[in-house]
Amino acid sequence: MKRRKALQQIGVGLSAGLLAPQLFTSCKKDTLNPLVKFKGSVAIIGAGAAGLYAADILNSQGLDVFVLEARNSLGGRIRSFSTSDAQADNSTESFIYDYHYPPIADFPVELGADLIYGSDSSWGKVINVLSLPTIDLSAATNNYVLDNLPKPAASWQTDSDFNAVQSFISGLPAYSGSDVSVKAASGVASRGQALLNSQAGNYYGSSADRISALGLGTGLKARTHDAKVLSVKSNPCQDILLSRFNEIVSKVKLNTPVASIDYSGDTISILDKSGKNYAASKVIVTVPLNVLKSNDIQFTPYLPSTNVAAAYKFGMDACIRLSIDFKKNFWGDNVGFVWGGSIAPQYFSAGFNRSAFNSTMFITIYGQAAEILSSFPGTTMINSILAELDGLYPDTTGKYTGLATRYVRRKIAGGVETDPIVTIYNWTKDPYIKGGVSYPLVGATAQDRIDLGTAVPGGKIFFAGEATDTSGDAGTVSGALLSAERATAELIKSITG
Ligand SMILES: Cc1cc2nc3c(=O)[nH]c(=O)nc-3n(C[C@H](O)[C@H](O)[C@H](O)COP(=O)(O)OP(=O)(O)OC[C@H]3O[C@@H](n4cnc5c(N)ncnc54)[C@H](O)[C@@H]3O)c2cc1C
Repeated sequence: MKRRKALQQIGVGLSAGLLAPQLFTSCKKDTLNPLVKFKGSVAIIGAGAAGLYAADILNSQGLDVFVLEARNSLGGRIRSFSTSDAQADNSTESFIYDYHYPPIADFPVELGADLIYGSDSSWGKVINVLSLPTIDLSAATNNYVLDNLPKPAASWQTDSDFNAVQSFISGLPAYSGSDVSVKAASGVASRGQALLNSQAGNYYGSSADRISALGLGTGLKARTHDAKVLSVKSNPCQDILLSRFNEIVSKVKLNTPVASIDYSGDTISILDKSGKNYAASKVIVTVPLNVLKSNDIQFTPYLPSTNVAAAYKFGMDACIRLSIDFKKNFWGDNVGFVWGGSIAPQYFSAGFNRSAFNSTMFITIYGQAAEILSSFPGTTMINSILAELDGLYPDTTGKYTGLATRYVRRKIAGGVETDPIVTIYNWTKDPYIKGGVSYPLVGATAQDRIDLGTAVPGGKIFFAGEATDTSGDAGTVSGALLSAERATAELIKSITG
């Protein structure tokens, strides 16, 4: 009760309008580049980070732009639990929660992107410009699981399997070995495989036996920003994005899933699923890789074979985010990540240094682990995760199967505690996302990323979105933002020559 009151007082976790948005539009029409003279209009498909930023750049250059978004909200894979979620039972196959029991964390609950990779990365710069307080996660003590024991790095420093995993990971940007999976390239013994899978598979959107060591290493090497990992102290990420791109909000048509794009004539004809037609002179497609690969949007003529072939060089695996509130932090107040789980490879103590209670875990699961959990109903999913945590944190009283079962927040019926409360977003089952993030399969090259995002000859169809980032930030918000800069530069060049 006390926690809920604190939450209501500061308005966090609920989508509060937090900024004076007009101050933060990217560039005013009269301050930067000269306006681009173009009589036609530009349609942007998708209102995630890439789509909103692309629209903002073009709008600021004086171009007539509109955004078509399939869902009923903006932000795409940046999605924060909000007031409206807490008030209505809009649970779906992808979004599972009981609105009578919303999360009670005293900080925003993120269902998608929650961390800033690089304080000076593109997303990091947005946060800086807005002067939003952040938490530097390097101050946290991460725990690493071997032999079912979660311990800090210092406790494993003489363990050869622990050291093999960490040295493989730190050497990834310089990796120049065979083009094989992370698992095959690492040479890590089976005892360390779950740890490897957590830190170098799940963390990058897949599993260690699927993600390419060479592809991953090439991307990491290309990154130009620092390696800091931050969380935002008290602002919901979705609010930050929308505040940053506030000028674009009125240009977005929600609930408009695009079904086809015919670019065979002078004017491009875009049909949504209800059959409504939108005309544009140029289009930037920013939909997730799996939406593109599933042919949910029919292109006439077909997209060039180079783009299509490149799309199949990358994976976008299943992905689930869970947020679980506990009555007590039993894993340690200074703990950040717990790496090495098998059911859930990434446990994150989301309240670290930003919560008075610090007893909420964000659990992010990709790849094979997410596929397995996805096939279960919500209750089985949560019970499997609690069972894994119970194994890692046993209850010495012997009364409970473990500390997770003992301390998980539960529903109350007739004064008796019943089922565990959990908020689950299954991104794989979101029809307009269909998975987590893009990652390189074995065989993918840096050229494939370039090919994936290459505009269709003729200057009408352009591509942005995290999967098309070529600067090493694919799979992140920064990658999505950078891809918007690239695609809009290409589009403007197609006008100005
Ligand atoms: C659980 C999870 C955790 C993550 N954590 C982090 C993190 O901590 N830090 C980080 O930097 N990144 C993180 N990421 C990755 C990050 O969220 C994405 O890289 C980024 O948000 C992608 O932006 P985007 O614009 O490329 O795509 P999206 O945000 O997916 O936007 C694409 C938009 O296209 C729309 N769309 C799809 N089909 C159609 C259609 N037919 N017609 C019209 N619109 C359509 C979608 O609804 C969506 O809004 C995470 C991702 C997930 C899933």
